[in-house]
Amino acid sequence: MDYSERLIVKPGEKLRLADIDPGFHGHNESHEKAMPELGEALAGITRLQELLYAQKKHALLVVLQGIDAAGKDGVCWHVIQAMNPQGTRVTGFKQPTAEERAHDFLWRIHNAVPGLGQVGVFNRSHYEDVLVVRVHGLAPKKVWEKRYDAINAFERQLSEAGVTILKFFLYISKEEQLERFKKRLDDPARHWKISEADYAERALWDDYVKAYEAMLTKCSTDYAPWYVIPSNHKWFRNLAASRIILETLEGMKLKAPEPTVDLDEIRAKYHKAEEEG
Ligand code: AMP
Ligand code: MG
Repeated sequence: MDYSERLIVKPGEKLRLADIDPGFHGHNESHEKAMPELGEALAGITRLQELLYAQKKHALLVVLQGIDAAGKDGVCWHVIQAMNPQGTRVTGFKQPTAEERAHDFLWRIHNAVPGLGQVGVFNRSHYEDVLVVRVHGLAPKKVWEKRYDAINAFERQLSEAGVTILKFFLYISKEEQLERFKKRLDDPARHWKISEADYAERALWDDYVKAYEAMLTKCSTDYAPWYVIPSNHKWFRNLAASRIILETLEGMKLKAPEPTVDLDEIRAKYHKAEEEG
């Protein structure tokens, strides 16, 4: 399956989440059946990220959004782990600090954008400024409604500077979210994840759906497309995210840089004498 093509939000298309099945799991019937494909994708990511790091001509930015318990942390753990930490930075965006609030909404974001040779992952992002801000009325409509254009201009500028942008919306059903909250309650190892705020956000589900649909419709562009990742099955979520990252890295035609030294000369000068001596 061509995951990128199957899951992309086509630029200009009006997206409705009701048309998408969050339980979709592609051609694999189970986690076990999907394991070889996942392993292969992760191995491919490992290999290509090393070339991206060595070549320093491209940057990759992966943006993760999704409702509470959709699996943003899970993708960081199970997918991003395939990359060498030395070329990778995960940034989580929480409620802005006083200093961040004193600046325009992209200020804190810009600073976390990966440089050439690097991979950056945003666990939440500038999209919170058209999601939580819109749903809770943290800014007036006339402020947040201009942000879609501002975001598109920002992302275009990044892409022109060599940053390839992938945006993953992790989509779970309302029932699946409740199941996951319940698992947290039943499992002492997960108690630390429980927050009453998550239940308050859940009550605003329909408002969030509207805000997600606006974000996906207005901000999926040729240079920074959104992908809706059906995420009720964690293994499919990880597989789809891995495959899209892999397909994107493959599209970069990455190559290790040419050696900067004459290899024969180095061999003769430093190895021969010692090896023969
Ligand atoms: P978590 O990801 O569960 O640790 O929670 C982070 C919280 O920060 C979430 O409730 C987000 O909605 C909130 N947050 C992130 N960015 C913003 C923002 N720009 N404005 C207001 N709240 C935000
Ligand atoms: Mg939370």
